[in-house]
Amino acid sequence: MDKLFTSTLKLGIIAGGQLGKMLIQEASKWDIATYVLDEDPQCPAASIATGHVNGSLSDYRAVYEFGKMVDILTYEIESINIDALFALKKEGLHIMPDPSILELIQDKGLQKEFYAGHQIPTASFTLFETRQQIIEATQQGRLAFPFVQKLRKGGYDGRGVCVINTADDLDELLKGPSVIEEKIAIDKEIAVIAARNNSGEIKCFPVVEMVFDARANLVEELICPSVISEPLAREAQQVAASLIGALGLCGLLAVEFFVDINGKLLVNESAPRPHNSGHHTIESVITSQFEQHLRAILNLPLGSIHMKMPAVMINLLGEEGNSGPVVYHGLAEAMAIEGVNVHLYGKKITRPFRKMGHVTIIAPNMREALERADRVKNLIKVRS
Ligand code: ADP
Repeated sequence: MDKLFTSTLKLGIIAGGQLGKMLIQEASKWDIATYVLDEDPQCPAASIATGHVNGSLSDYRAVYEFGKMVDILTYEIESINIDALFALKKEGLHIMPDPSILELIQDKGLQKEFYAGHQIPTASFTLFETRQQIIEATQQGRLAFPFVQKLRKGGYDGRGVCVINTADDLDELLKGPSVIEEKIAIDKEIAVIAARNNSGEIKCFPVVEMVFDARANLVEELICPSVISEPLAREAQQVAASLIGALGLCGLLAVEFFVDINGKLLVNESAPRPHNSGHHTIESVITSQFEQHLRAILNLPLGSIHMKMPAVMINLLGEEGNSGPVVYHGLAEAMAIEGVNVHLYGKKITRPFRKMGHVTIIAPNMREALERADRVKNLIKVRS
């Protein structure tokens, strides 16, 4: 990449949400020109990108033409027209991570088969084409309750996932090809973000632990470092490192795990991009996940993953039952607390549970960080 550090490198980012915005904030440190493809002219990244191109991510022409404008292409979302990426790759464009990895990850069935084929621990599973086949499998005793159905394609933030506990729940089965997984008795959900560059160097960020909001099924609070045992944390990092190595991925891979009630580690799913579970790294780790992504895709040496301070990250979600032009209440009071770092994504309209921003709270120890985070949660309200 001769153009690196020349002021002329054009980095294309597919989708201009908050992940794209924070990636651009890091890219600007190195004077990289950034272009964003998104169908929303008011998307979070549009206000700070060098250029914004209006277009649908699922549209072949929009993705292809966007790729033709840039020197290197990356993405911050999985649902992209994959044929356009393959065509661009064939014509010599650097696309990181490689489209073949994105194609695999877009399909939860292929993802699970990859784990199973590479000794990556994961919940046992079977693939089904239709709802009817799932019902027949239960009637014929080939599939036992309880189980979890996941649509192979298109799900996000818990949509496309359905827990079936008994035969009475079968009406809720989703339509479409799906993965049926054994239902895990989950003790904790944790995540590790791994990075790998083209030279094969791999580094993993410290383990984070996610606490979910049961109503929205979104991460409510995330803590880093996790309170799991040292050996289990090391094992999670080793699994994430083996997975990114087995995929040969250049960039970031966010790996989400379940820890079951017996302390066993299982990979749930992974995403080939910066991730909500890595936002805290901006303030709490020497290298942020966004800088690490840039280092990885530009084949630079990977940065240090050592923590500066323990951190708690809170997503700022739109309040339930409320939509309209957003107003953030209580921000000034929250900012009076030491170690509070506010990030607003710039979405103009709030909707119930929409991710509008996040706050990272750092402190010399986790007890203090959690105590400050509780105060912040009570102070900030996102509503119109
Ligand atoms: P998404 O990709 O939409 O985020 P996930 O695969 O992460 O979907 O599933 C959403 C949530 O459903 C998980 O965070 C977990 O709480 C629950 N879940 C998913 N798979 C299982 C499983 N096999 N056993 C028990 N709970 C599960």
